[in-house]
Parts: sequence; structure tokens; C-alpha cells
Amino acid sequence: MRESLKLINIFNILKRYYGPRNWWPVTPPGKLYPEYTGGPENSEQRFEVAVGAILTQNTSWKNAALAIKSLNESNNLNPEAIMRIENKQLGKIIRSSGYYNMKARKLKVLAGYFLQKIETNRESLLELYGIGPETADSILLYAFNKPYFVIDAYTRRIFGRMKIIDADDSYEAIREYFETNLPFESWLFNEYHALIVEHAKSFCRKTPLCDDCPISYICGLTGD
Ligand code: SF4
Repeated sequence: MRESLKLINIFNILKRYYGPRNWWPVTPPGKLYPEYTGGPENSEQRFEVAVGAILTQNTSWKNAALAIKSLNESNNLNPEAIMRIENKQLGKIIRSSGYYNMKARKLKVLAGYFLQKIETNRESLLELYGIGPETADSILLYAFNKPYFVIDAYTRRIFGRMKIIDADDSYEAIREYFETNLPFESWLFNEYHALIVEHAKSFCRKTPLCDDCPISYICGLTGD
């Protein structure tokens, strides 16, 4: 099967199976906890996505979302407030996300970047403290709707097991593989990555549940 056809086939099956994911979760007006409502609709929510992309580094989304809730409760989920608040205090607020002192520093740098009001691009994001390729691409795709395919451990696990990619390849090589073999569309990259995360949690876990996996016939593996 041609690479692009295989990737689209997998996408279609996962989409049918799980339904639309409505990423990235943001806090609806008047609420405190982020929800899956189809992504950001304004600059405040775009900033929230970027904050979430940092808070979820090395931890579950559940822990990151609790930190977002605390930022909302304390009225600190905006660049101005984050610049004003002391590092130590900010660390306390986002404690649930782990590595909170380091993440407080990262959020300050991010807030300063947003306040500059320059055009957000990959090059300048990667220059910031605490932002690597996965975080940068998450911000570009989910906050700014720019077509960057996000590669994470789940992508490596699923597509490595399927022998579609070499899981040990570099981030950039794997990103390029997806971006050149799929239609170059933000909405598709958005939905595809969200489906990958869902599938890794539901079936392609550390110990995979291959027997009931909806893409097992393409995968052709028994989980190793
Ligand atoms: S068949 Fe198994 S290894 Fe392949 S994608 Fe499904 S769960 Fe993962």
C-alpha cells in the first residue's frame, strides 16, 4: 500500500472509531476547567493552549488541566499576570503539573514572548527556554492553526510498532515523513495527532491490546 494511502486509511478508521476529538481543550467563558470544544477562538485561548503545551510536558493532561484550573481560579491565565506574579507563587499555583519551579520559569518566558506581539513562528519559539520541537509544534498547530505535524512518544510507539516509521528516527525526520505523505492541511494534522493520542491510550498501550484494535488488520502485528 502506498505510504500516503496507508496513512489516510489509518486516519479514516481511527476517526470513524473514536469520532472527532475537538482538540485542543480550552476553558470556555465563565468556566474554570478546560474542555474539548474544538480549539481556541481568541487570543486568550491561544495563550492558554501554549500554556497547556508547557504544563503537560512530562505529565498527564489531567495534571496539566488542574494547573490551568488553578491559574483560572487565581486570575493568572494571561501573559500580563504571569509576568507580574513571583516565580515561587506561580510555581505553587501550577504545582499539580510537576516540575513546577522549572515550568514557572518557562511560563514567564512564554508570557514575555506573547507580550512582544510578534508573529509566532517555529524558529522563534524554538529559541525560547523550555520549548522543544514537540511543544513548539503543538503551539503552532493547536493555538495558531499552522500545519505542523506533532510527533510524540505515542506517534513513535504506534507507527514504530506498525513498522511504518523507525521509532528511533529523529523528531524532524518523522515529522517530515508525516507532512510529506499527508495532504498538507492543519485540520488533518490537528485531528490525526489527537486520534493517535486516543489510540495509544485505548489500545496501543505499553502492553498493546491488539486483539480488539480497530487498525490491527493494517498493523498485522500481535503487539511486539
Ligand atoms: S494491532 Fe497492536 S501494535 Fe498494532 S496498532 Fe493495534 S494495538 Fe498497536
